[in-house]
Amino acid sequence: MRAKVIDRAEVLKIVDLLRKDYEVLAPFCGRGRDTFFDIVTDENRDQIQIHVPNPYYPPKRFVLPHIERLLKIEQHDHTLRVEPTYDEEPRAIFGIRSCDVAGIYHLDRFYLGGKFRDIYYEKRRKNLFLVNMVCTDPELDIDEECFCVCADTGPAARDHFDLQLMDLGAEFMVVAGSARGEALLAHPLFKNGTAEHLEKRRRILEEARGHFKKANSWFAATIRYMTQDRILEKTWEEVGHRCLECGGCTYVCPACTCFSVTDRQVGPGEIERIRLWDSCALGGFTRMAGGFNPRRAVHDRRNRRFFRKLAHYFIQRELSMACVGCGRCVAVCHGDVGMPSVVEMIRRATAANEKHEPVTNA
Ligand code: SF4
Ligand code: SF4
Repeated sequence: MRAKVIDRAEVLKIVDLLRKDYEVLAPFCGRGRDTFFDIVTDENRDQIQIHVPNPYYPPKRFVLPHIERLLKIEQHDHTLRVEPTYDEEPRAIFGIRSCDVAGIYHLDRFYLGGKFRDIYYEKRRKNLFLVNMVCTDPELDIDEECFCVCADTGPAARDHFDLQLMDLGAEFMVVAGSARGEALLAHPLFKNGTAEHLEKRRRILEEARGHFKKANSWFAATIRYMTQDRILEKTWEEVGHRCLECGGCTYVCPACTCFSVTDRQVGPGEIERIRLWDSCALGGFTRMAGGFNPRRAVHDRRNRRFFRKLAHYFIQRELSMACVGCGRCVAVCHGDVGMPSVVEMIRRATAANEKHEPVTNA
């Protein structure tokens, strides 16, 4: 990757360049902690936030919408007309954080990496341009809950973006991660970086890593216990007792992939088939057509969430954990059973049960 730089005062000109070819989404501030991605317009362009707490509503929705129409079905005079609905709008996300870049890569593996490719996802994804912003501001970018350093996804993404920006003070370092990014870097806005720029980048990144508070997740031990089926039932029951089945953790998660498909009537003789995010936290997730629910107990569904995210089988299949360390589930969970808490509960309970600590004969 060749390092280029752009003056601080010019950085939003990247958005202007992208707007010629893409609908551009960028982060904005609402009230208090509220932040969100929105479409950039002439009116709001100057309010784009470079350093900002990561929005809780993840940008994965621009490639996998919360709710989307898959098919339109019309019935006229005993004939059926079925028409798929594809969204091929070229979009660019400016300022996407490294954890969310890793989240989209995880979705890529799930929706495109197997035997069957999801054509709805594929059409959106191939037209998506990602401008990753490295999290360096300890006050604004790095939340209490962030632990990308443990998930090995940040604070600077190593791949799966088109362009990456990092704040060096008077300038931003810019690197390309794809041919499309390289093509954009040929623009005269960008100047060649020097060895001093690289050294500054290294120093800022090292300092940023020191600001992560939740940098002590015991993923390695938990993955091993999970894969070897060594986790006690009573640990899952404890997680289940604390879960209020609100579904929040799954809806904010950039790496959750589950969806449901249903049909709804939208007019006389007109039906649409929609896909919407689903959540393993909700009772209906595992309920079968006849009403029987093989996973009625909350803990029976909660353990699937963590198994799906951390068991070796899935990591091998998708080449990454289905947790990218964004910390959103920590922030939204009423019962304190976000990812790092559960990982720690598992580690403690399993270690205590298996008596890892030495004991005396007395
Ligand atoms: S956010 Fe917490 S309480 Fe809500 S479903 Fe997830 S684990 Fe349960
Ligand atoms: S499990 Fe929690 S911390 Fe991990 S990616 Fe999902 S929301 Fe973020």
